Amino acid sequence: MSVETQLDYFRNELPSAVKLVAVSKFKPLQAVLDAYGAGQRDFGESRPKEMMEKALSSPSDISWHFIGHLQTNKVRMVVPYVAMIESVDSLRLLKEIDRFSESVGKVTDCLLEVHISTEGTKQGFLPGEIREAVEESVKFKNIRIRGLMGMASNVDDEMQVRGEFRALRSLFDEIRAISSSSDSQQLRFRLSAFDTLSMGMSGDWRIAVEEGSTIVRIGTAIFGVR
Ligand SMILES: *Cc1c(COP(=O)(O)O)cnc(C)c1O
Repeated sequence: MSVETQLDYFRNELPSAVKLVAVSKFKPLQAVLDAYGAGQRDFGESRPKEMMEKALSSPSDISWHFIGHLQTNKVRMVVPYVAMIESVDSLRLLKEIDRFSESVGKVTDCLLEVHISTEGTKQGFLPGEIREAVEESVKFKNIRIRGLMGMASNVDDEMQVRGEFRALRSLFDEIRAISSSSDSQQLRFRLSAFDTLSMGMSGDWRIAVEEGSTIVRIGTAIFGVR
């Protein structure tokens, strides 16, 4: 099926409040341009150099979402081109994004990645670390913390996947509650754009949307297998 057909399918199926990020990683530039021609504007990439090269040779009204593990020494390849870094997994990385964003005169939208799956290989903060990480993150003036991102376990057990998404959603709600009730005016102000919950991929997006996702990141189901 064509990229255009698949994009149409998702546009019809997703609630209008849920943003579709088309994950074009490892796919050629032409795949991005085809999707762009079909009206898609948000794309996800997981490697700094690949994202930078695609960004430099495609229309400038594309919003690039960085979704892979980002090393601090690659931050400078990503920040100038990115609309949102969805995969911030340490305060050290956040600090570097802040420092480099300041040097290029930009405020960078970021999500904190939370490790919600039972799979040991996946990156991210532990759920128990998130509250403190959010409180630390609001100190960075060139970062705007927009929310949380997570990946469920890659298993067939729907109850498990749903449970993991639900846990992420309740963490998200908890932080939203803090941000509206905190005594710290700075914290309330800095978290006023905390509105994004990125969860759901090709295999589990329906469950994620039922559990309150506001961004789904879909690769294979749009572009075919990598
Ligand atoms: C690759 C990737 C996706 C897309 O996965 P598909 O199963 O191809 O839809 C989504 N999120 C992250 C973080 C990824 O690395």
